[in-house]
Formats: sequence, C-alpha cells, structure tokens
Amino acid sequence: ATPTALMVGTGRGAQLGILIKGPEVLETTRRVDTIVLDKTGTVTTGRMTLLAVHPAESTTEHEVLRLAGALEHVSEHPIAQAVAAGAAERTGTLPTPEDFTNVAGLGVQGIVEGHAVLVGRTRLLSEWSIELPADLERAKARAEASGRTAITVAWDGEARAVLEVADAVKGTSPEAVRRLRALGLTPILLTGDNKAVAEAVAAKVGIDEVIAEVMPEDKVAVVKRLQAQGRSVAMVGDGVNDAAALAQADLGLAMGTGTDAAIEAGDLTLVRGDLRSAADAIRLARRTLGTIR
Ligand code: ADP
Ligand code: MG
Repeated sequence: ATPTALMVGTGRGAQLGILIKGPEVLETTRRVDTIVLDKTGTVTTGRMTLLAVHPAESTTEHEVLRLAGALEHVSEHPIAQAVAAGAAERTGTLPTPEDFTNVAGLGVQGIVEGHAVLVGRTRLLSEWSIELPADLERAKARAEASGRTAITVAWDGEARAVLEVADAVKGTSPEAVRRLRALGLTPILLTGDNKAVAEAVAAKVGIDEVIAEVMPEDKVAVVKRLQAQGRSVAMVGDGVNDAAALAQADLGLAMGTGTDAAIEAGDLTLVRGDLRSAADAIRLARRTLGTIR
C-alpha cells in the first residue's frame, strides 16, 4: 500500500475509535487468524458485585467482611473493589491493614487488626497449606457451577469463608465474537479465573475454545504456544496482567478503558473499550491494504 493509503487507514481508524501506533501495524492486523480474548474487563464489564458470603462455623459474616474488605480496599483488582464495596456497605467503615501484598493472579495477603489474612483463589490458601473444610468446599462448588467466581478468605492459618462475586458479559461481546468469526478468526477465551466460570462466559458469547486458570506470567506462554503452531495471533486485554501477552502477540489490542500498562504494551487501542472495534480494526486493515475491495 502507498504511504497515503496507510495514512488514510490510520485516520479512518481514529474515527472508528481505534488508535493505531504506527502505519506498519495495519500489515500485522490484516494477517491475524487467531484472537485471544482476556475475560475480565475485556469480554465482561469487569464491574463485579459481591453476591453472597458463606462464613465458616468459627466466625461471622460481619467479621469476614471487615477483615477481607479491609485488605481488598487497598487492591485495584475488579474483584477486590467488589468485595471492598460490599463489605463497606454491609459493615460500615473498614479498618486499615497494617501490611498488604498483592499476589498477582492469586489474590491479596496482609495483616488486619493483628490477623494474618488471605483473600483470593484456593491456590493462594494451599500455598500456606490451608485446606477448605467440606462445607466451604460445597459452597465454592455451587457458586462456580452457577458461573460465579468463588473467592476464599482465611486468617490465622484457617479457612474462614467463601465469597461469591460475579460480573456481567458486555452487551456488545456476542456481536463482536460473531463479527470476528465472520472475518475468519478463531476466538479463544483466556483467563486466570476458574474453568466453570470461564466456560459459562464463553457459552454466553459464542466462544468454543477456553484456556482457564492461567497465571498472569503464563498468558505469554499461551500466546507463544499458538504462534508455534504457525498461527498469527492477536490478543485483546485490559489488565496489568495482560501486558506481557499483548507485547508477545503478533498484534496487541488494548482496551482503552483498561490499565496504562496494557495500553503501552499494545499496538492498537480500542478507545471505547468496545470489543466490536477489534473487528472494525481488522476490516479496516484488510480494506486499506486491499484484501477486501
Ligand atoms: P483475569 O485473567 O480474568 O483478568 P486475574 O489473573 O486478574 O483474572 O485473576 C485470576 C483470579 O485470581 C481471579 O479470578 C481471582 O479468583 C483471583 N484474584 C486475583 N486478584 C484477586 C483479589 N484482589 N481478590 C480476590 N481474588 C483475586
Ligand atoms: Mg482482565
């Protein structure tokens, strides 16, 4: 394509809410055949709500919410914000943690009112050799079977509660997936969340292939594996945990509503955070470079 055509393409992109880092990006955009979609914040709104609390016999809902809410209040993760908001709503002012660490892809840990508190995946608890008692295990299984994310809470070496959180699929996601398929792309849902939740979301938007329970650092490995199969891979994401995979992908598409880290790592920004813009970008590239007349 001529430099003029590329400039026109880039300008048209801006009108469509697609920011393109450089004219050369259009060439890779045209060629992608596989599109990996992050779940939380990309396919779903990322605005989670705390739906239920299941305390263990050793404690109460009030105490669970105070201690878990205090820690989550410090984290920026969408799940953390849901837990903190739900906790503040039900119990009032939350204590300030004496210590706080974010454990990427697993949850948070810290000290609240002298207790060593963990909030996150069951795997975070197992790292501290804490097991879920049967009643909490059942609450977790029921929540996940209904497509909700189950978060576990522990303190002082004992599992104390299961929290249920959920977020909604964006209204535009099913149409976006249909349009990506119509352009010949294979969509794959990629998430750190559990398999049951991921499959429930995939079914809602029309995706068949799901890669779940992936640690943030392993998202890159998933992209590399697909590339090793000879695929040309686009990755769409919004989180800090997606940045490395966005950089590794042949084409990184960052949600404009996402984190700065994702936007910096991407080749393209979908300004409105609308997944349909990913399909627009691919059509635009093919048009500009003459694949579609
Ligand atoms: P995704 O890939 O869908 O954006 P993440 O990698 O950010 O998800 O998180 C993976 C999982 O780790 C979440 O589904 C949740 O179970 C757990 N998790 C991560 N951060 C937190 C947190 N601050 N509080 C509770 N759970 C968390
Ligand atoms: Mg995300």
